[in-house]
Amino acid sequence: MQDYHSLSQTEREALRRDLQAQYDAIAANNLKLDMSRGKPGADQLALSSAMLDSALLENPKAENGFDCRNYGLMEGVPETRALLGRLMDLPPEQVIASGNSSLTLMFDYIAQCVLFGAGGIPWAKQEKISFLCPVPGYDRHFTILQHFGIPMIPIPMREEGPDMALITQYVRDETVKGMICVPKYSNPEGKTFSEAVVRQIAALKPAAKDFRVIWDNAYCVHDLESETVPLLNIFEAASEHGTEDHFVEVTSFSKITFPGAGIAGIGASPANIAAISARMNAQTISADKLNHLRHARYFASSDAIRAHMQKHAAILRPKFRTVLKRFEQDLSDGNFAQWTNPKGGYFISLNVPNGCAKRTVELCKNAG
Ligand code: PLP
Repeated sequence: MQDYHSLSQTEREALRRDLQAQYDAIAANNLKLDMSRGKPGADQLALSSAMLDSALLENPKAENGFDCRNYGLMEGVPETRALLGRLMDLPPEQVIASGNSSLTLMFDYIAQCVLFGAGGIPWAKQEKISFLCPVPGYDRHFTILQHFGIPMIPIPMREEGPDMALITQYVRDETVKGMICVPKYSNPEGKTFSEAVVRQIAALKPAAKDFRVIWDNAYCVHDLESETVPLLNIFEAASEHGTEDHFVEVTSFSKITFPGAGIAGIGASPANIAAISARMNAQTISADKLNHLRHARYFASSDAIRAHMQKHAAILRPKFRTVLKRFEQDLSDGNFAQWTNPKGGYFISLNVPNGCAKRTVELCKNAG
């Protein structure tokens, strides 16, 4: 496209007519595409269908002999804790394998801090608290904080991760209780925190003794290319500073197997796992261990996870490339739009000039 600003009035009108005609032609297709973010296609769901065979009926027992059809093993089937531990790079005893949703785990963890505190006075009983939120970020994280009435402090995302100078300054205030973030292939820009940023987060010495970072590693194995973008293990980095208790990590199989019918896990320091486990013990007798078992058997090794994720990537990559190619073709001149080129995750972020976002979304909506 030509630079709009360098065109004469007549040329602008001709261009507008031409673009309107192109748009009308697309709208005439009466498309009704499901563009819900982070929702795998049916072909991706089919990659996991073989999990739903009858093998469980023949042997519903965990490796330790526990019959997974029954109550028990509140912290999860051992091999499933190990599987989630492989995803988060944590030993099984520092992981609880839970239900179907990491969002629920995050909600419950924050509820636990609000009601009972994080080793201190319950957050609900403290006069003022707030949370740091790298932005743009995941809207449902913000919904959780909003639900609990926790004020959010936006922290701009840079290429390497959130603005650490700002974070370092904010954590000197003891009313700042933590941060919620997606460290790898973050929504919606697909950025991964650099090693230096992870080390800086691990080294933070917040004024709040009950400081917690919710490390939502939802996209830990969701590479679009054969090479992954490395993310330093936050607990390893934290162990150099004795700050392991500041971090609570979650992940899930929602975008590996079945969203809403996968498994989710929470990883933390031994002290935090004990506190989470004590709360869960009052909350449930056990999770769906048949699903735990199904996942542990389907993904018996790290290679099995990698091979499965490469199948997802083979489906997703051409879609990402099509969008990027189209942006490049139609939007690269004129310097009025910028977009990200992520190496993993589920999102390409498109930035349009101030004041144009609503209209862009409206036009997309009207075109189906
Ligand atoms: N965390 C992030 C960053 C997500 O993008 C999503 C879903 O899109 C979730 C969590 C929700 O995960 P779950 O299905 O495990 O609740």
